[in-house]
Amino acid sequence: MSMLFIENLDWREKLSELEIPISVENDPLFLHCLEILKSGGRIGISDGLKIYNSPNFPGLCALADLIKQSRFSKNIFFNENLHVNTTNICVLACRFCAFRKGPRHADAYELSIAEFLHRIAPYADIIDEVHSVGGLHPRWTVEHYVNLYKEIKDKYPHIHVKSLTAVEIKHISSRSGLSVYDTLKSLKEAGLNSIPGGGAEILVDSVRDRICRGKENSAEYLEIHGIAHSLDIPSNCTMLFGTVETVGERLIHLDKLRKIQDETSGFQCFVPYPFLPDKTRLPEAQLATTSEIVRVIAISRIMLDNISHIKAYRMNIGDYVATLSIKSGADDIDGTVGHEEIMHEAGSKTRLDFNKNELSNLVKSCNLKPIKRNSIYTKFEEIFPLQSNSITMPLLNQEMSQ
Ligand code: SF4
Repeated sequence: MSMLFIENLDWREKLSELEIPISVENDPLFLHCLEILKSGGRIGISDGLKIYNSPNFPGLCALADLIKQSRFSKNIFFNENLHVNTTNICVLACRFCAFRKGPRHADAYELSIAEFLHRIAPYADIIDEVHSVGGLHPRWTVEHYVNLYKEIKDKYPHIHVKSLTAVEIKHISSRSGLSVYDTLKSLKEAGLNSIPGGGAEILVDSVRDRICRGKENSAEYLEIHGIAHSLDIPSNCTMLFGTVETVGERLIHLDKLRKIQDETSGFQCFVPYPFLPDKTRLPEAQLATTSEIVRVIAISRIMLDNISHIKAYRMNIGDYVATLSIKSGADDIDGTVGHEEIMHEAGSKTRLDFNKNELSNLVKSCNLKPIKRNSIYTKFEEIFPLQSNSITMPLLNQEMSQ
């Protein structure tokens, strides 16, 4: 991969050079927010609520897009990765989760290390990242994951291992009688390169009590990511919205993330995604509309001034909403993925056979520039997509999916 111009760190200055969209220019509230950002300020929860709830939806999207353009111009990022879930057996039963199974369920599984490596094999020459999360297994300790990561690195040293949500790390450390710090240190030495952001849900404990009682609380989620950052393990952060939370609670969530980021600078990317209801146990969920998903993407870009990347996670929101999102503040559409269970069990219909050319064509269809990245956003390659979608990723056998 070659080095390209990627991120403008003086993006606030760049904001002053870009043409202000009419929907922003004609609205005093949005102009006020733009001025705050240009002068080095931060959009607080109060102004955030006003612009989120504003009838000027085009203004919200245009302001977010202006910030995205000031940071990344027309660049939109993706990577070539593979998702492999370790197990769907979980000792918890979060009400929004369609993925977990009890240990005696007919569809429960736990991959052996050999089976995990077998999953990677057909993709090994294409991907440079394996993304792996799973349930909270009742028996596995840190030793299982240390052995797994060592074997992956031994066989596929070029593959970046992005693995384990905060609650998995908490569970493994408790099962192993170790501190979170010592657990992460051992996992890093074995080959863990970064941590995905899953499990943040909404970082307000009264909401967590209703949708995922028993999971780590808000402070623990943030603390575990902070400990990872102190060990130079970068991570992503997420938000599951559209269950029982208020808009204000979504913005409190964003505010908590940026406060931790002020201290650690360890979050690479923020990934907001809406609740999908199939096979879940949350009949009172509100279910986000398309415009609400785009609103959340836009407000995330506007408020999270210290997290570089905002992801439109197409596995959850689908390709159409992803194209709306990359014109409304998002700069990343995740990766090729290849195999996905968590969102597809809950109702996602997003195709799993996209290769880099198809992802590039998706980005190009929005008149934006597709850039292939590595997992930690340090290497980049501009992709000039083919007109034909003739090359496809190899498909795994589907015995565990859907
Ligand atoms: S969301 Fe994670 S912790 Fe909760 S039940 Fe599902 S697999 Fe288990």
